[in-house]
Amino acid sequence: MNKSQMSLNSITVKSANFQELVELAAKHEIGGIAPWRDLLDGISLSKARVKLDNEGLRVSSLCRGGMFTAPDEASRQAAIEDNKSAIEQAAALGAETLVLVCGPVINGDVGGSQRMIFDGISAITDTARDAGVRLSIEPLHPMMASSRSAITLISQSLQMVRELNCASVGICVDAYHVWWDPDLSQWLREAGQAIQAFHVSDWVTPIMGELSSRGLMGDGCINLKGMREDIYSAGYSGLTEVEILSDYWWSMPPAELVPVLVERFEEHV
Ligand code: ZN
Repeated sequence: MNKSQMSLNSITVKSANFQELVELAAKHEIGGIAPWRDLLDGISLSKARVKLDNEGLRVSSLCRGGMFTAPDEASRQAAIEDNKSAIEQAAALGAETLVLVCGPVINGDVGGSQRMIFDGISAITDTARDAGVRLSIEPLHPMMASSRSAITLISQSLQMVRELNCASVGICVDAYHVWWDPDLSQWLREAGQAIQAFHVSDWVTPIMGELSSRGLMGDGCINLKGMREDIYSAGYSGLTEVEILSDYWWSMPPAELVPVLVERFEEHV
């Protein structure tokens, strides 16, 4: 896939600040960026948007909202307020969607935690719609159910999209989290235009750290070309984000890493 269809997720070049992220994407003629919110602290979002427009860069997503689950009501309410702030940031930056990492299973109760997530998203859909921001539920690999997300399957995220019944809500498909599903192609077809974001990396073992062990495209076992075909055939028209959380690749300076990412993207996605 051509690099004009690639978006550089900021976590992939963790040591770069917002300005550096934009410059890296522009220099290598990548289609866009996907910043994590910590990068936005202290910067003017209106000026950032002008800069992005001048460089012709899209913001494929803002990462992240979510984390709706908590044992107590006050914490759940605080999460809702934080998500409303994230929606404002996404709107100001012109991000094509706000990705939701929905929150871990609380007290071993998967169903109850999923209901907290449903209630949390329900509480922000009006804000998102009014701001023109799409929300994307990202199912995470089941190994992260206790730490990051009680939503672990595309089927669960689609079910939630249906129940929320709001045009602003869809899903984010991250190859790392869902590649192993034997019914993946079927679910991607079923998802259709509900797919609002697509993340790529590769699955390599042994897992050295739950949040720092991803491989570069081509180093692992994921059929990325097959997934890409399924997703774009289903009607997706956004960019494809390269999102690599890896202690190994973080040790390489971004200026050296990005050309490697581009090469791998064009060859393996
Ligand atoms: Zn992701």
